[in-house]
Formats: sequence, C-alpha cells, structure tokens
Amino acid sequence: MVGGRSRSERTAFPASVPDLISMKDTMGRPLHDLRISVTDRCNFRCRYCMPKEVFGRDYEFLARELLLSFEEISRIAAVAAGLGVEKVRITGGEPLLRKDLELLIGMLAGVEGIADLTLTTNGSLLARKAEALAAAGLRRVTVSLDSLDDEVFKAMNDVDFPVDRVLEGIEVASQVGLSPVKVNMVVKRGVNDHTIVDMARRFHGTPHIVRFIEYMDVGTTNGWRLDDVVPGSEIAEMLNAVLPIEPLDANYPGEVAKRWAYRDGGGEIGIITSVTQPFCSSCSRARLSAEGMLYTCLFASWGHDLREVLRSGASDGDLEAKLRSIWHARGDRYSEIRSDATVDLPKVEMSYIGG
Ligand code: SAM
Repeated sequence: MVGGRSRSERTAFPASVPDLISMKDTMGRPLHDLRISVTDRCNFRCRYCMPKEVFGRDYEFLARELLLSFEEISRIAAVAAGLGVEKVRITGGEPLLRKDLELLIGMLAGVEGIADLTLTTNGSLLARKAEALAAAGLRRVTVSLDSLDDEVFKAMNDVDFPVDRVLEGIEVASQVGLSPVKVNMVVKRGVNDHTIVDMARRFHGTPHIVRFIEYMDVGTTNGWRLDDVVPGSEIAEMLNAVLPIEPLDANYPGEVAKRWAYRDGGGEIGIITSVTQPFCSSCSRARLSAEGMLYTCLFASWGHDLREVLRSGASDGDLEAKLRSIWHARGDRYSEIRSDATVDLPKVEMSYIGG
C-alpha cells in the first residue's frame, strides 16, 4: 500500500487493460469508422466547401507522389480493421476523379473485418462508373445533391452542373445494386432551405434515404456563420407539416444521422445535426487524408503522418502500435465545445480531410 491506496488502484490496471484490447479513446469511444480521402481535387466548387476565390486556378493541390498508393491505403485499412474498424467510406475531394478507383475498392472489399464499404460522391461521374464500382465490391453509395432546383443547385456547385445528371447517377447506381442510395443535402439558410420539401417529396416512396445536413463550420474558407444554419429541429418540423414523420432507432451506436420514418410507410430520411445537437460523445470516426495524415476529428487543426510511418519501412505491427497510441490519446469533442472562440481556430478543409 502506498499513500493508503492499493497497487491496482494506483495504476488503474484493471480498467485500462480492456481499453487496450478494444481500442477505446480517452472518452471510452471505440474506433469503428474510417473515412478515406483519395484526392483533394474536385470538379465542383460548392460555395460552402471549395469557394472559387480560394480554390481557383492557382490553388496548389497535392502532387501525385504525395498521395497514398492503393496498396498503402489498403494496408492502413487492414490494420485498422484489426483494431475494430468495420465501416470504410471512400471520399475526397471528389473520389471518382481518382484514376482506377475500382481497383482500390476491390482491394478494400477483400479486407477481413470490413463489413460496410461505401463511397460519397457528387454524382457527376457516377452514371459512368457505378457498374465497375459495384462489380469491384462497393456495397452502397452516398450522393450529394443540395437541391432539385437547377438554378439553386448550379449556384451552389458554382460550375453550372445540372441536377439531371446527378439524378441519372443515382438511377444507374440503384440499377447496379448500390441501393438504397443516400442523398446528402447540406441546408444553408436563404440559399436552398426553400427546396427541402421538394427534395423529400422526390424520394418519398423510394428506397433512397435523403439526409438533411446542418451547414457546418468545417475549414476556414467558407465564411460560416451560425445564422446560416437551419437547425435540424426546424427541418423536421417543416417536413412533418407536409409529410408526417416519426423517429426511428439508430442502426448502431454512434450513427451520424438521426433517423425518421414517414408515417405513411413512404420510407426513411435522416437529419444530421452536428451543430445544434452534437454527437461527439459517440463519435467513432477517424479520417485519413489523401496524403496519409490521420485526423481524429472533422474539426481538427492537425493530423498524424501515417505516410511517413509507412514509407520508413514500418511493419504492420509498428503501424498498429501507431494507430493504438493515436486513438488512446484522442480526446476531441469540437462540436460540443463549439463557441465564438472556437470558430476561428485553424481547421483542415473538408475537401482535404474528406467528408
Ligand atoms: N465530393 C464528394 C461529395 O460531393 O459528396 C465527397 C466529398 S464532400 C466534402 C462530402 C460531403 O461533405 C458532401 O455531402 C458535402 O455536401 C459535405 N459538406 C462539405 N462542406 C460542408 C459543410 N460546410 N457543412 C456540411 N456539409 C458539408
């Protein structure tokens, strides 16, 4: 006995061993999801994500040799799967701009332990690529579509891209089995909130799931203001008034979207309230940038360089030890402590870290 406490009390040994095995962070959160960005480039210039004034002709995107190869990505995914990751989402930038992406999908589909392999895309190249992606082993797809109104959508993507081509992508994805498709609509007050109900009606009665997302203060280039956020509760009320909805249970602990069902049996929607009702306490996601930096929060200022670890000849055991130490030290809860003081902190851009 030292200082009146037993040895096991002092070292907290009994409590920390299970955490080491199951990879819990400082708040007891497991690592379950890995989001992998495969490029920082995008063919859209959404005003809230990659505004042209910043991401213009002179913007320097990552050089080819800095990007992780498909082999490097798969290696990290396999080690992460051994530590509890069951869900992998490919993202970007626009992931379908990465050449031969289906080869990576094929490699990840073969990783033991990854039960859910999905991808988030702006849909612009989906009609062309959906079949190859599905054949390679992709299970599902999430397509971003901020409005069905062409004028509103074109103003938001800022490259004059029409709604019809995204809808075509969703249709083809559905036909090749990447269904149900999740459709992400970021809602910005005064920009597209008047088109929320149209979006819901379009997919009501289909297997596809629209997810309405509160506009977030990711990165530092979009001039985010709290006034631009339409709270999820307001979105739910707006929908409930025309298409009555009722809450559903989460599919699994830590699920991002709050699920709602149409009372008339017309399917399901999701509302993602990371600003007004943060879900940090159950966040089980890590994000890998296209150049191999691992981030433990969407709002992080810095990441951990896994490319350096890989390219310095590390074994899988070394990589596993690195992931364990990163996750054990994790204490991020940005959305829960968001305030005027945190809004101006340096944060990585969404296009770099992956959505
Ligand atoms: N290019 C792909 C796409 O458009 O889906 C994948 C990358 S994108 C960064 C991933 C998702 O993040 C998209 O659904 C996009 O609308 C969303 N997003 C980007 N900036 C956002 C912000 N400030 N607030 C909320 N969602 C945002």
